[in-house]
Amino acid sequence: MTTEQIVLAFRPKGMPTLSNFTFESIELPEIQSGQVLLKGWYYSVDPYMRGRMNDAKSYSPPFQLDKPIEGGVVAIVTESKSELYKKGDVVLGFLPWRQDMIVSEKDIHKIDTSLAPAGYYLGILGMPGLTAYFGIMHIGKPKATDTVVISGAAGAVGLVAGQIAKIQGCRVIGIAGSDEKVKVILEEFGFDGGINYKTEKNIQKAVAELCPNGVDIYFDNVGGEISDAVISNLNFHARVALCGQISLYNSTEGPVGPRIQPMLLTRSVLMQGFIVGNYQDQFPEAIKQLGQWTKSGKLRYTETIIHGFDQLPTALLGLFKGKNTGKMIVEV
Ligand code: NAP
Repeated sequence: MTTEQIVLAFRPKGMPTLSNFTFESIELPEIQSGQVLLKGWYYSVDPYMRGRMNDAKSYSPPFQLDKPIEGGVVAIVTESKSELYKKGDVVLGFLPWRQDMIVSEKDIHKIDTSLAPAGYYLGILGMPGLTAYFGIMHIGKPKATDTVVISGAAGAVGLVAGQIAKIQGCRVIGIAGSDEKVKVILEEFGFDGGINYKTEKNIQKAVAELCPNGVDIYFDNVGGEISDAVISNLNFHARVALCGQISLYNSTEGPVGPRIQPMLLTRSVLMQGFIVGNYQDQFPEAIKQLGQWTKSGKLRYTETIIHGFDQLPTALLGLFKGKNTGKMIVEV
């Protein structure tokens, strides 16, 4: 059968454009024993994919030129030569951007769509939800008296991180890129305060005003000047979970900023970078907890769903323009 795939045509310098991606028709071979044929249903777009477009050493290897982009995909089994899967099963895997794909039974696992909608396994019950959970619970170690600041607050990770901090009894302030997003975090997700970083002229002062007792936990999704402003408000024994630095992913110059080490030292601050995969052995218990909070209504969830396989590159680029509220996924 013939199917379509999206490959990386050339590596971007700075902000990628649609021209970095090429659509190709390919012929799939017959499926072999131990393999399944899948039809992609929901495709995840994630900021870390920008890093994989560079030819640089990181925690996940660069995408290869002229090979399909890969990412989290929820797919439906359309043909099976595996004893583990039958036609109609819904599976999750780290899979190529192809409309139809032949994969080994070892590269996927079944998801239970009676527990939650299929797309949730790319969001709140998947990598972003887990990232929020471990960053807040294991690095932030929240106490009910803590004030927590979340940057990238209206995104997939930020919305969950802020709500988990609220569940722990903290006061939570979010920073996001529009008045609409600030309204959403306050009115729909229970944050206690919000800052629109695109219109606020003095973010450092705005954080100080919203956090009169200082900042105990900073969950950093964005880096850059927003983080400089938050970090100057940290309390003694504050914890900083370095989750992402999206404001720097497309920059072509080395970042410059204040030297923060003296402040970290004199205020005994713990700043820790982390990759969600570091906590792999604890995923089952975290997914169970996230599922319980979701089911009980303590954790709310939202997605931005873009329709059509041909929209995948546009959706990925949209992350860097703030086009999403909650988790951005593409439904095919
Ligand atoms: P997301 O927040 O759903 O989407 C990205 C958001 O980033 C956009 O909606 C946009 O919101 C904001 N943004 C884009 N450019 C920005 C800029 N220059 N300055 C400030 N904000 C900007 O994405 P996500 O999946 O939840 O990921 C959030 C962060 O966590 C990313 O940095 C990502 O790399 C990181 N992450 C880390 C791990 C890990 O294991 N450490 C795992 C998952 C994600 P605004 O409208 O607010 O600008």
